[in-house]
Amino acid sequence: MNRTDDGHSFFDRNHQEITLYAHAKINLTLDILLRRPDGYHEVRMIMQELALKDTVTLQRTEKAGILLETEAPDIPKDDRNLCVKAARGLFERFGLPGGLRIGLVKRIPAAAGLAGGSSDAAAVIRGMRTLFDLKLTDQELMAEGKKTGADVPFCVLGGTALSEGIGEILTPVRAVLPFTLLLVKPPAAVSTKEIYEAYDRAEAALRPDTEGMLRALGEGDADGIAKRLLNVLEPVTSEKHPVIRGIREDLMKLGARGAAMSGSGPTVFGLFSSRADAESAEAGIRKLYPEAFTAVTAPVCDPKPGACSGS
Ligand code: ATP
Repeated sequence: MNRTDDGHSFFDRNHQEITLYAHAKINLTLDILLRRPDGYHEVRMIMQELALKDTVTLQRTEKAGILLETEAPDIPKDDRNLCVKAARGLFERFGLPGGLRIGLVKRIPAAAGLAGGSSDAAAVIRGMRTLFDLKLTDQELMAEGKKTGADVPFCVLGGTALSEGIGEILTPVRAVLPFTLLLVKPPAAVSTKEIYEAYDRAEAALRPDTEGMLRALGEGDADGIAKRLLNVLEPVTSEKHPVIRGIREDLMKLGARGAAMSGSGPTVFGLFSSRADAESAEAGIRKLYPEAFTAVTAPVCDPKPGACSGS
């Protein structure tokens, strides 16, 4: 195995196989500006890449067709899988020869608000660009990702970013996040579509101070960051799954400086001042919620596509 030029993915000697990492994300803020006539929502949110990651291996095959191999029990293995959808899009767009075998090792909980599927799809298109030597700029790669899902462009970019439009207008943000995170996923199944629909019927929610959060992140102002965590979907998902409110309260009691739900949920994260604090809270909360784990942000690096995505 050799490293590729970006140093973050691995090629075999014959350039027939490539291995990439697909990182989870959380929302430090999530605001919804409006619902467009086509049903999409215009958002304004600050996204943060985490070190927590799936592994995606792509192998070119002579035989046509896309084959997904994974031992993950709780995700579709057919065309509904976002990896397959993303790969099919590139095969069709470029009329690529042969086929692709996708090996997927899942560590990011599925349907959790951590963009696991979107990140896998982003890894597939990044990997296929290299494997098939596709002439796509980074911007074009992100535009291609948007066809698979609104969060895919951010997952291509990585790092910390302000995400606008339906998620495709991205501005990299230089951020210092002086925390260890504790992620807690309750055993609740949440449909992103249903949560957005319920939001449309709900009263106007408390809105995040996005500008203030951007300033606090730039300054590494721990208190400023912690007090500005806010996700307008949290009251909506909490209404359906009150356990989310309970977890947030538990995290605060266990010493979190701030806590919020990520995406459309149901994962809630707490910010802790040190790894030791996060780990002791993890031990406490695991008795109630087995899917609790400490996490760190992906290393700070140049805000260029793929630069953080394979660390
Ligand atoms: P987001 O935060 O972008 O809304 P999420 O973290 O809530 O995403 P995902 O893990 O991306 O959710 O899964 C969303 C849905 O997509 C689930 O119903 C899941 O079955 C399906 N899915 C398709 N492909 C994948 C994949 N590769 N990994 C995980 N889920 C996938």
